[in-house]
Amino acid sequence: MLRLAVVPGAVCGGCDVALASLGEKLAKLLEYYEVVYWPTAVDRKLSEFLKLDSVDVLIHMGGISTEEDARLAREVSAKARVKVSFGTCSVYGDIPGLNSIYSPAEIRESIASQVDVRVEGDALSLPQPVNYAAYTDLVEPDILAPGCPPDDKVLDQLLELLIRYAETGKLEARPVLLGDPESLCSRCPRNPKTTKIVMPGIRRLYEVRPEEGRCFLEQGILCMGPATRAICDHSCIKVNYPCTGCGGPVEYGSDSGLSMISTLASVLLVDSEKVALERGLARELDKIRDVVGSFYRYTLRKSSAYRLRVLRRGG
Ligand code: SF4
Ligand code: SF4
Ligand code: SF4
Repeated sequence: MLRLAVVPGAVCGGCDVALASLGEKLAKLLEYYEVVYWPTAVDRKLSEFLKLDSVDVLIHMGGISTEEDARLAREVSAKARVKVSFGTCSVYGDIPGLNSIYSPAEIRESIASQVDVRVEGDALSLPQPVNYAAYTDLVEPDILAPGCPPDDKVLDQLLELLIRYAETGKLEARPVLLGDPESLCSRCPRNPKTTKIVMPGIRRLYEVRPEEGRCFLEQGILCMGPATRAICDHSCIKVNYPCTGCGGPVEYGSDSGLSMISTLASVLLVDSEKVALERGLARELDKIRDVVGSFYRYTLRKSSAYRLRVLRRGG
């Protein structure tokens, strides 16, 4: 039996639920692996786990928000033969990564103003916050499994890879980015395909009743499908909700927010640009109230804008 450990950083619990919900498929994986640590599902102490000299596969979930998260992630990763970055928090920083627009001091001040914790003497030691990071900022994983949480497509690919690894002792490539290497638009059931997409303006979701079966962009609704890797089977779109981009960019290392802005530039009011300029294209764009939250909800920590900000402030 190979050893498998599941280690959480800063998590919401959704990734744990996704993995645990695999049911029979998980049972198949457990024919090859012994779970030596997974605090949500297995009763094993961290201190015992840390005594092991190696693990075959480490699945890391969540981002890094405290010194303890960072220390644990580094320590257990150094012992792992195959490291899996599981979930968009771990791969790209996800929603907690939005705090990158504030300085660490501002974040601490904001938290302190909302949490009423009284510490007397040494009675309680609080976790020490660090600048929030994705797991991939600390460690170079072998497998990247994006999704918030990862969807069936990614989970199936991951299980297949891990079983093949158990049988052969090899991974064909490192790193492997799971999901299909194309945008969600490519096979979207709403993609008009024969005509080009034209966005008639910007509408907020509460202003329209989205038509089933019609591309969201054609209805004026922001949909991150053109800039998002195909990590799911159009899960949100099929329930009449636009993609918000939880799968991250199509290629690892590219900037999904910039790709989406570039797409918008080519589809927004394209057939009426002249009129629009007169009426105020800028006013239309102003309807995007939350630019960062719309285009970088899950990936701000890995964006060009974040890298520029870090360069400007010198680290
Ligand atoms: S990736 Fe999503 S589901 Fe997983 S821990 Fe982060 S917020 Fe939760
Ligand atoms: S923009 Fe969204 S709704 Fe339109 S084709 Fe792409 S994924 Fe489908
Ligand atoms: S449709 Fe988009 S937001 Fe929804 S699960 Fe798929 S990638 Fe994530």
